[in-house]
Amino acid sequence: MKRVTQFKSNCSSFDRSVRSIPSFTRLVGMEFGGPVWVSHSSQGFTKGTIDDITAQSIVVKKDEDGIKIAAPYDEVFPIDDEDRSVEDHCSLISLNEASLLNNSKLRFEEKHIYTYVGNVLISINPYESINGLYSEDRRMEYKGKSLGKLPPHIYAIAEKARLELKRNKESQSIVVSGESGSGKTESQKSILSYLCTGHATPLQQRILDINPILEAFGNAKTMRNNNSSRFGKFVEVHFDGENVCGGYISHYLLERSRVTSQQSGERNYHIFYQLIAGADDQTLTRLKLDKQPHTFHYLNGCPQFFGNAPSNRCSGETLSDALLSDAQQFNGVVKALESVGLKLEKIGQVVSILAGILHLGNIKFIDDTADMKGGCKVDPSTECHLSHASSLLGVESNELRTSLVCRIMQPTKGGVRGTLIRVALKPGEAVVGRDGLAKAIYSRLFDWIVSKINNSIPLEDNKETKFIGVLDIAGFEFFKHNSFEQLCINYCNEKMQNFFAERVMGEEQLLYQRESIPFNNVQYTSNTDAMALFEGKGTGILDILDEEVRMPRPSYANFTSSLHKKHEKSFRLDKPRGSKEYRHLRDEDGFLVRHFAGTVCYETKEFIEKNKDELHMSLEAAMEGSSVNLLSGLFKTGVDGRSNINKLRASTIGSKFKAQLAVLLQRLEKTGTHFVRCIKPNEHMESGKFNGGLVLSQLRCAGIPSLLTLMHSAYPSRIAFNDLYSLYAPSLPTKLAKLESRLFCKCLFRALGLSPQDYAFGTSKVFFKSGKFAEFDTIVQGES
Ligand code: ADP
Ligand code: MG
Repeated sequence: MKRVTQFKSNCSSFDRSVRSIPSFTRLVGMEFGGPVWVSHSSQGFTKGTIDDITAQSIVVKKDEDGIKIAAPYDEVFPIDDEDRSVEDHCSLISLNEASLLNNSKLRFEEKHIYTYVGNVLISINPYESINGLYSEDRRMEYKGKSLGKLPPHIYAIAEKARLELKRNKESQSIVVSGESGSGKTESQKSILSYLCTGHATPLQQRILDINPILEAFGNAKTMRNNNSSRFGKFVEVHFDGENVCGGYISHYLLERSRVTSQQSGERNYHIFYQLIAGADDQTLTRLKLDKQPHTFHYLNGCPQFFGNAPSNRCSGETLSDALLSDAQQFNGVVKALESVGLKLEKIGQVVSILAGILHLGNIKFIDDTADMKGGCKVDPSTECHLSHASSLLGVESNELRTSLVCRIMQPTKGGVRGTLIRVALKPGEAVVGRDGLAKAIYSRLFDWIVSKINNSIPLEDNKETKFIGVLDIAGFEFFKHNSFEQLCINYCNEKMQNFFAERVMGEEQLLYQRESIPFNNVQYTSNTDAMALFEGKGTGILDILDEEVRMPRPSYANFTSSLHKKHEKSFRLDKPRGSKEYRHLRDEDGFLVRHFAGTVCYETKEFIEKNKDELHMSLEAAMEGSSVNLLSGLFKTGVDGRSNINKLRASTIGSKFKAQLAVLLQRLEKTGTHFVRCIKPNEHMESGKFNGGLVLSQLRCAGIPSLLTLMHSAYPSRIAFNDLYSLYAPSLPTKLAKLESRLFCKCLFRALGLSPQDYAFGTSKVFFKSGKFAEFDTIVQGES
């Protein structure tokens, strides 16, 4: 007997009480002594048997240790199919979180890293290479096959996008999401290689060559991922008919703070280590670098390094990870830079700038006792670094020195700008200015490199091309201490979640209504109010922050207080003491946001500085006058075309990101969208280890449980009658082919003996249950 199930439709984990109240119908099929899944803190769910049922809870005796626990009704599920894995979670008999997790685990143990939920691909990082999974033969197998015909694969998603671009003459996008280390970037690479290999033209090859450059300048070793991308990207491959005719990369939020400091055990961007390990002796001499990365303050993720007793973690191995073989990669990066059209002379300037940043970081400041105003001077022991930095960055060393130790200001009185004055800086302030300069140089260099890459894969302006875009952007982040970077990333994730829900859940349901297909609506949480909290005009977090930044003396406490005032009664925003863990914080030190994926406390101390994208006027001017033309170019007009002349009016990091996201969303909305959800199976980057609790929380964050419910009753594949007609009519008997398209489809299905439960006729399209279009496609092609 098929058991009646009702599934929790709300996947949010921040407030379990908002989940739908379990109905007794869900319990039909569960009886005393019957096997069940019961929620388990580390494994997600564990097996047990029902021992007792009370009004509030179900008492379950766990198989693992015989201990009885009382669990709420919505944390106990019947066991079906426990030993049989399925390729599409939708084909499970019982649709619930427990069977979803169990199926994920079974697949993972069988080394099947891919599974569908309807058209959404779930990918679990195996942390090992799986024999033949990405071979050329595999690639060929998926060509021309609709989704579901072959086992789940990232290639099937890429092929689906390609087929739909061809069939619907509409651009496509593939949104890849997941936590750090879950395999997003590897997925993006597989998709791009699927789209660009096989008789690769020079252009296709160039698109593939780009990646080592982006990874060298934008990836770093972190505690979560040895090759973690520290920026988001949307890579478009443009097609003219079936041929690749160009590409374009948009990038988001490069992590600037990493240029000047890293957590213990983490590294700066790969390129610095690659340069030191891989450049020839002559170059190293020119750049005044020796093969000792740890002598540079900016490369020293472990502060203990300068102390007497380096800890184990800070062994040389951390800095030059064996896995990464920096030296070898450096040559690859130089070749790739050449292949995107950079002359050796320009590459020379790039490395000068990189070395200049490193020397800059080693300049120290001490109190200038001769200065009555409490200013500072360059520590004489670091004069050599000042001199190296100046020559590598192409500025006079005295100009760099003065711009570092004092700042030029133009006071305004009654709206009138006064004369420029020079203000002496304290040592700490000079360090902030120095680090600000290093971050500005690096992030502009990164922008410039991406723009050069884009020039090398040009799009012809006058050509109306369609594209397949792949989005690889950081997933929801939640650490012990969360600052402005997490706020931006999580804001982006709210937006992507909103897009996902609307696309997959909302539009799906609308479509059934339009097509008059009977369908039970599935509840899903809307997070539109979270959008307003972030980007509301004048009232959103980002605007309130910008307002504070524009004040003559901005203060983080002011910002936090006005935020609390404006959102006093909001459910989404709260004072830190709204959560037990953050009771110790004062109201003005931070705020809580209740995100779709959980509650996060943001500490605001550095918000103002981190949101500002400006340098002291004197530093800006020094860079503008650099004799290294690449560098002066970066500061004359931003590579994004933004003039840097009036820094006060320049946009902040937050508002720039908001504008970029708006453009991205506009672009995504015009495309057919496909989703890949990446999951990491454990926190230790180990193969073969499946941490159920960790996987379950990621599945919930990705909105999979509610999608599963929706898809179970939905029809994930659909095609217009006309299209189906034109696809198959030519190869069928003329009698059938003469029919009007809708009737043609009906007759065709009847003739093929398809079960009426597997498809539904709308007003313009025919819809198929999950996997059924593929079956149908096989039969027709077999017949024809
Ligand atoms: P993310 O971009 O989500 O942070 P990555 O794509 O960089 O994660 O993946 C992290 C690491 O996991 C990779 O460097 C690789 O070692 C491993 N990995 C990811 N996907 C796969 C895969 N499909 N097969 C084998 N290993 C993988
Ligand atoms: Mg990545």
